[in-house]
Amino acid sequence: MIKHARLALPLAVAMAGSAMATSAAAEEINLYSARHYDSDEQIYKAFTEETGIEVNLLEGDSDQLIERIKREGVASPADVMMTVDAGRLWRAEQEGIFQGIESEVLAERLPDAMRHPEGKWFGFSQRARVIFYNRDNFDPSEIDTYEDLASLEFDDSICIRSSNNIYNQSLLASLIEHHGEEEAEAWAQGVVNNMARDPEGGDTDQIRGVASGVCDLAVANHYYYVRLLKSEDNADREAARKVGILFPNQDGRGTHVNVGGAGVVDGAPNPENAVRFLEFLASDEAQEIFASGNNEFPVVEGIKKDPILESWGNFNKDDVNISVLGENNPEAVRIFDRVGWR
Ligand code: FE
Repeated sequence: MIKHARLALPLAVAMAGSAMATSAAAEEINLYSARHYDSDEQIYKAFTEETGIEVNLLEGDSDQLIERIKREGVASPADVMMTVDAGRLWRAEQEGIFQGIESEVLAERLPDAMRHPEGKWFGFSQRARVIFYNRDNFDPSEIDTYEDLASLEFDDSICIRSSNNIYNQSLLASLIEHHGEEEAEAWAQGVVNNMARDPEGGDTDQIRGVASGVCDLAVANHYYYVRLLKSEDNADREAARKVGILFPNQDGRGTHVNVGGAGVVDGAPNPENAVRFLEFLASDEAQEIFASGNNEFPVVEGIKKDPILESWGNFNKDDVNISVLGENNPEAVRIFDRVGWR
């Protein structure tokens, strides 16, 4: 059984007394998760069935969970923290949330790029930040790369969300890694100059902007597009059909990917169970479910993907280590500020 709690605001509202502090002799892990997919529960159940280890779940947003673990201090029952985006995982690391672990299973199952160099956190699913174009107004052969987005010919063409969004910060962090700060700043300036409108809304709104003709091009994570394609709402599916997807930088370093990931909490009361849980997330069984919950790509090769993702075929992924996206995050934020990317 999954004991389930949702972190309510204000943070002072405690749940530890009810679900988590009851540590009898039973094997358990206390999982703090900022992912909210129903499919994740399937994974926890499968893990418990295989190992006999119960999963006690506390859900909240990433920053809440970090604050909570810090406030709980050495008394924190947290064993594993799970969230999305390398930038957020890195922030948790900077706050001292994670401990480095060694696991042969993870070393063998996960690609290098998906493992923090000291084993502090790991990527278990991948999301591609891609370019979308209007099928009627735009010839996709005109653009190949993220770098092209800054080109003068795309003046007044691009929809992309605000710079306070972590996905854009991680994308710019990858450009800093490949080109250095100066070129990355020139790129960001070029994109600002090419915006069709001031940044507004989330990733889905950028895709809708392409569908409605406000912009020819948009940047967004792939799964927002998949959601529109699968929507029960006719208008959503209609909008998605007007939009094409393009995986940038296929002839070079590959498309920028970000992750859903997790790490073992420093001072975890059940560290061995926590490691077993992470190892389970890398299993074939969990990989298929973990990625499918949000229409993401599994990190382990050969796992069955969602049919829509499967239809796109394979694409080259930028294999920069996920920790780099965090390390370059502060510089990315400063660059966005300097170029006036709202
Ligand atoms: Fe998202």
